[in-house]
Amino acid sequence: MIKSFISRVFGRGARQAAHPSKPVVYGPDKHHIRKELISRGARKTCEELQRAGHTAFVVGGAVRDLILGMRPKDFDVATSAHPDEVRSLFRRSRIIGRRFQIVHVMWGAETVEVSTYRAHFTKEAEEDKQDAHGRVLSDNVFGTQAEDAVRRDFTVNALFYDPVKEEVWDFQHGVKDLVARKLVMIGDAATRYREDPVRMLRAARLSAKLGLAIDPRTAEPIRELKHLLENVPQARLFEEILKMLLSGNAVACVKRLRELELHHGLLPLLDDALEDPATGPFAMAALEATDSRLRDDKPVSPAFLLAALLWGRVERRWHELEEKGQPSTPSLHSAMHDALDAQRESLAIPRRFDATMKELWLLQPRFLQRGGARPFRLLEHPRFRAAYDFFELRAQAGNAPTDVAKWWERFQEASGEEREKMLHADDGPKKKRRRRGGKRRAEAGAASPEEVAPGQDE
Ligand code: ATP
Ligand code: MG
Repeated sequence: MIKSFISRVFGRGARQAAHPSKPVVYGPDKHHIRKELISRGARKTCEELQRAGHTAFVVGGAVRDLILGMRPKDFDVATSAHPDEVRSLFRRSRIIGRRFQIVHVMWGAETVEVSTYRAHFTKEAEEDKQDAHGRVLSDNVFGTQAEDAVRRDFTVNALFYDPVKEEVWDFQHGVKDLVARKLVMIGDAATRYREDPVRMLRAARLSAKLGLAIDPRTAEPIRELKHLLENVPQARLFEEILKMLLSGNAVACVKRLRELELHHGLLPLLDDALEDPATGPFAMAALEATDSRLRDDKPVSPAFLLAALLWGRVERRWHELEEKGQPSTPSLHSAMHDALDAQRESLAIPRRFDATMKELWLLQPRFLQRGGARPFRLLEHPRFRAAYDFFELRAQAGNAPTDVAKWWERFQEASGEEREKMLHADDGPKKKRRRRGGKRRAEAGAASPEEVAPGQDE
């Protein structure tokens, strides 16, 4: 498909070199973007802006994805109109951001982000000027359309699509690079990474998502400059990591990160997860499972995936503490806290994920307890399903006993009577036994004293 696309695209007009201020313009016979694939909101926003005498284009990732035949996640619009002009044209719109203003235009459930052409890239949250490493921390400088193209990261992200005239405007050879399946940084790659080190992660993510090779001159400076990621605010780094993990191409992204040596040191979460021989296969299986759920349009839980990626650390520490003679459950609690604290020192996982992650971890040893009332109680736990999936995935990856995972599969489907027959004498890790009888025994109902291993059932 791409081959025939090349020959269609590279008609005579399209072959001429793009001048930074003069775009190559591709008509509908060349780019083959179907106008109907542009969201209604983005289309109407461009139409209105153009009717009022401004220029307006769909821009960035959406144009790139459409040319590649992929379904864009969202549609952004870039325009010559200033934010207050945009605001006055659309009844349902609001200006957001203080330092750099963009306008959100609402069409039913859809929100279209409209930005005025500008001369430099900015991330709203950041401070003015550059930091000591050359990172651009702010701008609010409006610019020309050509400047707006130059400030973008990769050539394939600098394409504009006019849904009225149905033309693609290309200032940076983006179409040519797309066709050649290359991810090329606009300008001098090293300088661009210094301005914004997150572009290194974006190179990994976008090349994986789009199946593009990273151009050697774009890839080469990363080795030298990867330490600059340490200066990026944690929240932004985490946001980008999460985008990778939930992109539907997590496995490919991680592979690219490793090729670029970006996973080392800076991203201990992944580093640790994938290089631990005991739990690495489980971390990888969790990434694969996430990709496959996303492919099937099923929901995924970031907390589940993060818990899986950190499990190696938790488990290692847990067993270390047990070996030092600490009882099992308190050891697991300390191990969880240690793992989260260690993680926070490098890449803080927002606290909103903590509760779910901890619950998934704490429920793991309970799958080993198949005696008495405990399997029934576990089955009723509100987080049972996720914890079972976690256990099952561990079993698949050789990190938990498969026979136990199979037992749980059968137990869930069995009738009440069958379940009673399935109960085991306790096969959880044996601990010092408490005095027989007492409260525990009463709780366990008909279970024999052997089945009641205290300290594991919380
Ligand atoms: P995705 O498919 O993940 O949405 P995207 O390229 O659209 O990929 P966004 O974060 O939505 O990524 O950014 C929209 C556009 O903004 C990009 O296509 C690019 O033109 C520009 N952009 C985003 N981040 C940067 C950056 N760090 N430096 C320069 N330009 C950027
Ligand atoms: Mg996007």
